[in-house]
Amino acid sequence: MQVRYRYRIYPSPGQQQALARAFGCARVVYNDCLRVRDQAYAAGEKITDTDVQRRVITLAKLTPERAWLGQVASVALVQACQDARRAYKNWFDSLKGRRKGPKIRHPKPRRKHGRQSIRLTRNGYALHGEWLYVAKVGDLKIEWSRVLSSAPSSVTVIREPDGRYYASFVVQREATPLPACDREVGIDLGLASLVVTSDGETVANPRFYRAAQRRLRRAQRVLSRRQEGSANRARARHRVAVVHRKVRDARLDHAHKTALRLVRDNQAVYAEDLCVSGMARTRLAKSVADAGWSQLIRCITEKAAQYGRTFAKVGRFEPTSQVCSACGVKDGPKPLGVRQWACAACGTVHDRDVNAARNILALGRRERLNACGTGVRPPLEVAAGAEAGTRRSAA
Ligand SMILES: [Zn+2]
Repeated sequence: MQVRYRYRIYPSPGQQQALARAFGCARVVYNDCLRVRDQAYAAGEKITDTDVQRRVITLAKLTPERAWLGQVASVALVQACQDARRAYKNWFDSLKGRRKGPKIRHPKPRRKHGRQSIRLTRNGYALHGEWLYVAKVGDLKIEWSRVLSSAPSSVTVIREPDGRYYASFVVQREATPLPACDREVGIDLGLASLVVTSDGETVANPRFYRAAQRRLRRAQRVLSRRQEGSANRARARHRVAVVHRKVRDARLDHAHKTALRLVRDNQAVYAEDLCVSGMARTRLAKSVADAGWSQLIRCITEKAAQYGRTFAKVGRFEPTSQVCSACGVKDGPKPLGVRQWACAACGTVHDRDVNAARNILALGRRERLNACGTGVRPPLEVAAGAEAGTRRSAA
């Protein structure tokens, strides 16, 4: 398995300047790449990757406006070129319908005030003793908070908007399967609770973002009053970034813990395949972003692979909240906000989310058996109901 390990680094003021130069050059090369490709696309010309790279790096270095590109490690520039190529290709494939999943938007230019990064392959960095050597920057002090599981194949040096620096390594890690267990679980992702399981267990949604929101709003108001380009504005921007970072870290930590518990306690975990990006564009956006469903799903996927467990998503349009998990009768759409209902056919009283989680479990199991070739047809073959897509507005 390929995983990322991230460590905090502490560059000296001189190294910070060298890094700032490298970030700036990589950003310019990335944005130039996008521009060159956009121009070629608009003109209906085909342009090869080598040609793009030659124009934005090799030829650009010869011009007075881009001569400073020569001051930084060229491996970082080449990687920026490749990042732009991949971003462009993802968008293009999505545009032409060659890529599954939600539509990808046209890659945005990198901005000066956002997260800055350079990616380096083996010829751009080295590890020796306590230090991380980066070409044309020097030996960086690094905090080895855990042991690297293998020799890294690449490193990304990052400066977050709050001013912290990190090194993120791509390493190989052996899977460490846990002893098999016979429990399986379906999970329903929500807003009121982050997770409701088919066993009736709930994991609260701590809503870190909401809690920090007042602080964030105040910080942003201060920022908007500060004059463009002033030192005060830089300070205000830093404060906003710090609040954001705290929210992000707390949320990620919660996602890891929740995912670990689900994966450790169950041989298989099933979840609904949510169109999270579609939801995020509605007015629920803030809560959706807050809940961090996609982040949780990523954590579960990663941990299931690590610990030899199964994680599977079930179809997005299954009306998991309309069907009685006890008798299988479709009971019709439930008005939004109905948390409990009694099945008209068998009389079982259901908690809306637990019932949905149980249906997800049943669906997941059957889809899995199907995949094994037992020929069982998946249940809940009802056409995409309006309710299936909207029920989360209840929360
Ligand atoms: Zn029933």
